[in-house]
Parts: sequence; structure tokens; C-alpha cells
Amino acid sequence: MSPNVSLIRKIMSKALQSGRLAHAYLIVDQKISARRKLVKQIASLLLCKKPLDGPEGSLEPCGTCTSCRKAALSIHPDLVEIIPQGESIRIEQIRHLQKEVIFAPLEGKRRIVIIDRAESMGPSASNALLKILEEPPSHTVLLLSASTSSALLPTILSRCQVLRQARTRSGTLVSDGKTDSVSHKLNGNLVSFLENELALEDQDEVYNALELRKKLLNFIGRQGQGKLLGFFDASSCLSLSRNTVRLTVAIINSVIRDVFLIRQLAARCHGKVEMDLSDRLINIDSQELLVRLAQGLNYDTLVAYKKRLDLAQAMIDRNVKAEMITDMLLVFWLKSDSKIQ
Ligand SMILES: [Zn+2]
Repeated sequence: MSPNVSLIRKIMSKALQSGRLAHAYLIVDQKISARRKLVKQIASLLLCKKPLDGPEGSLEPCGTCTSCRKAALSIHPDLVEIIPQGESIRIEQIRHLQKEVIFAPLEGKRRIVIIDRAESMGPSASNALLKILEEPPSHTVLLLSASTSSALLPTILSRCQVLRQARTRSGTLVSDGKTDSVSHKLNGNLVSFLENELALEDQDEVYNALELRKKLLNFIGRQGQGKLLGFFDASSCLSLSRNTVRLTVAIINSVIRDVFLIRQLAARCHGKVEMDLSDRLINIDSQELLVRLAQGLNYDTLVAYKKRLDLAQAMIDRNVKAEMITDMLLVFWLKSDSKIQ
């Protein structure tokens, strides 16, 4: 099992264990056979009567119960598999599904619907599926799978939790915590942030965004004299393009979001930041820095940062020159450095 498969399976295992399964997932991977295998494994897990403990806290289908055996043979009455008829998934197939999901599952707690090559749905099939997603039946989990998410309607995407097989530019899977060619610790939240919120599809784009993020986190984390050096280091890559500015604002926003979250949780736990943040933070690999910021920055300063980022976003929307936006941001960040400690 490759490390990244375990990442997606860890996310699914956690959701299953905590009873917080989403109604719909979209599994994105360009490699069709690997994707199909993974989707089938997830379906088996969700149907299995007695899942087993797997590596790193994940769960695995037992493989021997009646549910597992029926799922393996694709004869489980609560497993619906929709595959393209010819080139595309047809409206009739989704209409049929609409009728089917009304009823309770026959054998287990839930029904699993696999929609293979979801990107092959035309507009009418997509809109029919959207109706199901808008009022999801409580006992049904939809597992959409696709080579790319960009061909799907944004309204469908917004109703799915997207799980991706992220790959680095060298084509190797990005693993969580293990050394990879990008040398970043990527958790599911970060992958999701990069590819959903920032809408990065291309591996090079993801790689560049990670490099930029590294510089920004380095800059934010520096103090005193080092901060000035970090300023030049960061600004040298910042004024490149409008897209870089857009990424910068989004990345710093994600840091501020994490800091807010830590403060919120700390307040709830009476100041002790000991709770498990790993499934909540986007920039989990910089947790130490985030906690330091959460403890060092007062609420008003954080709000000021947030407002400044909103202003930058408004400037981006108004097509203000990239250099002006980065200068405004960096000078603001540099000036407020004294408040961090
Ligand atoms: Zn089983």
C-alpha cells in the first residue's frame, strides 16, 4: 500500500470511526486503475460488518464477512456502481439512482453509490445528480471518482469532500510525513487547501505554491534582523505575477485562519494547547510557529492582519498592480513584527 493511499484511507477511517462521514466524496486520481481499486476498497470498508485496525490508525475491510465478499463480487445489494455507458454517464442512469436512494439500505447501515468517471456526466446528468446531492439521503454515501475535478460543475464540487492523489513534479506520490521530493509534510487539509481553495491542478503549480508557502512561513517566523532578510527573500518571489500575489494572500490567510483556530481551541481548553490539532490545521507542519503566533498576537492585531488581507484581496479583484499589493502587505507585516513577540 503506497503512503498516499493510506492518507486517503486514514481520512476515511477517521470519518467512519467518528461517525462523521460526508454524504459525498470525490476521489481524484489520473490513474484509473489505482483509483478504481481505492474506491472499491473504501466502499468495502464502509460496508464491512467488522472493519479491522490497519496501519497508522486506519481501518481496513475484514475481507471475510458476507458484506466484504459480496462487495468484492459486486453483488452487494447496498452497493450501487454507476459506470459510463459508452462515452458518458447518461441522465437515465442518474434518474434511476434518484429512485433507488429513496429506500433504506437492505443489509447494512448504509448504501454506497460509486460513480466512476464522474467527469463523463453531461449537463443533464450532472444536474440530476446535483438534486441528489442537494438533499442527500441520510443512509447513502456517494463515492464519485474522476481523473480531474475541473470538468465537474462547481456546484457538485462544493457538495463533495474532495480527496486527491497528489503527485509531485517527479510524479511520485506526495506522502504525509514521509520524505518526498518536495520535502514538505503534507496533510490532507493542506492538500485540500492547495487543490480546492487555490484550485491548483497542475503538479508544477502545486510545487511552486509549496515553495512560496515555505518562503512565506519562513518570513513570518523570523524575528528582528532575520525578518528583514526574510522580507527581501519573500519579496523577490512575490512581485512576480498576479497569480503569485493571489497565492500569497491565500496562504497568509490560511496561516491567520490556523492561528484563530488555535486561539479558539485554547480558550475552550482553558489555555492548554494540548488538543489534537492534526486534523484541523492547514499548516500543521508549522504548528510550533502557529502556536507561537497564537500566544504572541492579541486579538486586535490578528483582526488587523485579516483586514489587511481582505484589502489585498479587494485590490487583486480591482486589478491593482501586483507590486503595489505585495509592497503594501509586506511593509504592513514588517511594521507589525514588533507586536508578535
Ligand atoms: Zn468485512
